[in-house]
Amino acid sequence: MSEVFRCGVIAVVGRPNVGKSTLVNALLGEKVAIVSPRPQTTRTAIRAIVNEPGAQLVLVDTPGVTTLRTALHKAMRRSVANSTADADGVLLVAEVHGDTPNVGDEEQRALDTARASGRPLVVALNKVDKLRRKEQLLPWLAHFEQTLGARCVVPVSALRKDGIDPLRRELIALLPEGEAIFPADLYTDQAERFLCAELVLEQLILHTREEIPHSAAVVIDSFEDERDNAERPICRLTGRIIVERESQKGVVVGKGGVRIKSMSQAARPQIEALLGSQVYLRLTVEVDPNWTRNESAVHEHGYGMNERLP
Ligand code: GDP
Ligand code: MG
Repeated sequence: MSEVFRCGVIAVVGRPNVGKSTLVNALLGEKVAIVSPRPQTTRTAIRAIVNEPGAQLVLVDTPGVTTLRTALHKAMRRSVANSTADADGVLLVAEVHGDTPNVGDEEQRALDTARASGRPLVVALNKVDKLRRKEQLLPWLAHFEQTLGARCVVPVSALRKDGIDPLRRELIALLPEGEAIFPADLYTDQAERFLCAELVLEQLILHTREEIPHSAAVVIDSFEDERDNAERPICRLTGRIIVERESQKGVVVGKGGVRIKSMSQAARPQIEALLGSQVYLRLTVEVDPNWTRNESAVHEHGYGMNERLP
């Protein structure tokens, strides 16, 4: 049997307090390093990257999912073979409460989103530890299966870590085959940097001719995250475009800086959608004649993202 590796994106949805954060932590198991350190009140796009021997599961937040998906899949298309935009799914976290199952607005919205995009829906019925009798679960399971047309409904206790392995298996089963997008030890904020760099690179591709993108790299040098600032959530990014020759630098910058300015203007709203906050983006261009040939320079400039970083 040949070994299949799966990699993809699952959007985690559900009303506040159903236990999404607790569940994401449980799904990560011991690999807590990847969990986003920011509180769930912010609109952090990537929640976690779950690495398994045969799979990489990228969990993202609800807001901005559509844009994030676009960004991620663009990144994936470049770095991962055979991945398609429609191959992954939605994880709805819901809570069992009482004997009479019901489906609220949030659940209905998740269903609609999943249906509209043709993505499969998996439901995690959380907090089963609170049930006095296990039989209380049965009407809920049936209801969620029938009403939501879920691929499967998995009863879990995120708090006690019950049912987590089956849930993880179900989610991984939804993912398309493909290489990992992120190195196994990548932190969430590095993942965000990577995606921001991809969005800049995309504009570089759109704004310049063939030759440039092939010999250019984009790296985000500084990432000041002030999304926790309630008054003015903002991220300040400094991006560096690295090219091989002085002449290429001229092309990227453009006359009087017009090209780099329009690239920055085009990338900014996309990065804002990705990060869920206002973004200040400063781009510079640097010439490094050796970066594509020099292995360590390639790593330094953020390429080789499918391999583990040193
Ligand atoms: P979120 O708002 O959906 O991210 O929910 P949180 O993960 O922050 O959890 C909200 C509350 O529910 C916290 O007090 C958790 O400890 C609690 N909680 C989460 N999962 C479970 C569970 O499986 N069982 C019980 N009893 N409580 C849980
Ligand atoms: Mg939360």
